[in-house]
Amino acid sequence: MPEDGKVAKFGGACVSKPEMYDRMAALLKSDPGRKFVVVSAVAGVTDSLVQTIARPREEKEIDQYLADVRKRHVALLPAPPEDGGRATEAMDALLRKLERLLYGIAYTEEITPRIRDFVLSFGERLSAQVVAANLRSRGVEAEAFEADQIGLMTDETYGNATALLGDTRDHMAPILRRQAGAGHVAVITGFFGLSPEGKTATFGRGGSDYSAAVVAHALDLRTVEVWKDVGGFMSADPKIVPEAFPLSVLSYDEAAELSYFGAKVLHPRAVQPARACGASLFLKNIYRPGDAGTRIGPDTVDRSGDVKSISYVRDLATLKVYATGLGSDEVLLSHSSTALADAGVNIFSAATSQTCVAFLVESDAVNRAKKALTRMGGLTPEKVEASPHASLVCFVGEGIGHAHGVAARVFRAVADRGISVQFITAGASMVAYQFTVNTKDLEDALRAVHREFFGDGGKRHRSASATVPSASAPLP
Ligand code: ASP
Ligand code: MG
Repeated sequence: MPEDGKVAKFGGACVSKPEMYDRMAALLKSDPGRKFVVVSAVAGVTDSLVQTIARPREEKEIDQYLADVRKRHVALLPAPPEDGGRATEAMDALLRKLERLLYGIAYTEEITPRIRDFVLSFGERLSAQVVAANLRSRGVEAEAFEADQIGLMTDETYGNATALLGDTRDHMAPILRRQAGAGHVAVITGFFGLSPEGKTATFGRGGSDYSAAVVAHALDLRTVEVWKDVGGFMSADPKIVPEAFPLSVLSYDEAAELSYFGAKVLHPRAVQPARACGASLFLKNIYRPGDAGTRIGPDTVDRSGDVKSISYVRDLATLKVYATGLGSDEVLLSHSSTALADAGVNIFSAATSQTCVAFLVESDAVNRAKKALTRMGGLTPEKVEASPHASLVCFVGEGIGHAHGVAARVFRAVADRGISVQFITAGASMVAYQFTVNTKDLEDALRAVHREFFGDGGKRHRSASATVPSASAPLP
């Protein structure tokens, strides 16, 4: 039997203004099932931590930075301070720790992936204190928790960790159940957990969505609400495709593919723990709590249509590795992908032929990737060619693998605009296809594909079941 209760995750924009705490408190009071709150850092704070450790800093700079961070958070605390300044005290203790860390980095001029993750986690630690204090001052019994101290367990992949779901359930669930039993709302830090060696490990940028799903899994809950200051998924990025419309349902796979390939509304891995416990993810707009938003759940697979949404990733590069007569394509593929993984290069797509393997990688990583491929252990390729300015278009839909001629329609629509397609990946997933175009053609290609499937009027051409027309919800 699933337990009752919901996880409500609040993103950066929803924890950064006193008016937002009013909204949050109202949501928690209106539905007592919302017992577990997961928070992101205050907007801009994680970015500022990333920038602060990007290069060695003088002590003066560190002091100034910490004073700014303190001011920013103190300004968000309720006035007069509740509980004799309990949150201020907790925040000052956190800032002293952060100060020691930043000084350490400045003196040693060294930063390991572990230390980096520890530093980046302070945004959420501070925001959990601010949010809990604000909820208390609005009559909600709330308590702040740091995920790594209550047993949200992860592997050791610092910067891109994965939660250990079984261990987390064992460690974290009893603590959170006790809180809920005492009638307290637990305000839990998103974004990180505790690695087996006892260090903080983050889930990658935007990782608080994933944390929320991990908490739901640990407690066997069926509802994860992801509250943002925009709505959920749309048929395309409305900044590029003005007739794009919101989507009320998506399957786990559709949401995962869209998120992985550029839609910034959800962390790409948030779907995994939700799927593992059959929870639905509801993406909701905090300004319009009555709107349905987008639901992603175990019962949302709809194979009757074709393309449901189109996403994109800008600024990629294609790398082609040629190696005629050097054995099979499998050897070339395995050596090349190992070399790229060892160099920390994220591969978006790969395609092979007998003599050549092509990879799609982030353009920032192209030099590193090229170097890694030129000097692979045991294999010297004849040539490694990099072409920049590639952008990827991804179209998804559970029905794509079942309907006929969907890909042909996509490519014809793009070709009719005089755009050439460079790289196509299909078949890896039955619900998503990707292709690349020159970045200068990206926006035109997105509009062409959207028009092909949804017409000039966007949602007006959709079947009635497709959408709730009101939310305004830009994809990035
Ligand atoms: N604060 C982290 C970030 O900015 C995690 C999150 O917001 O989900 O990436
Ligand atoms: Mg986010």
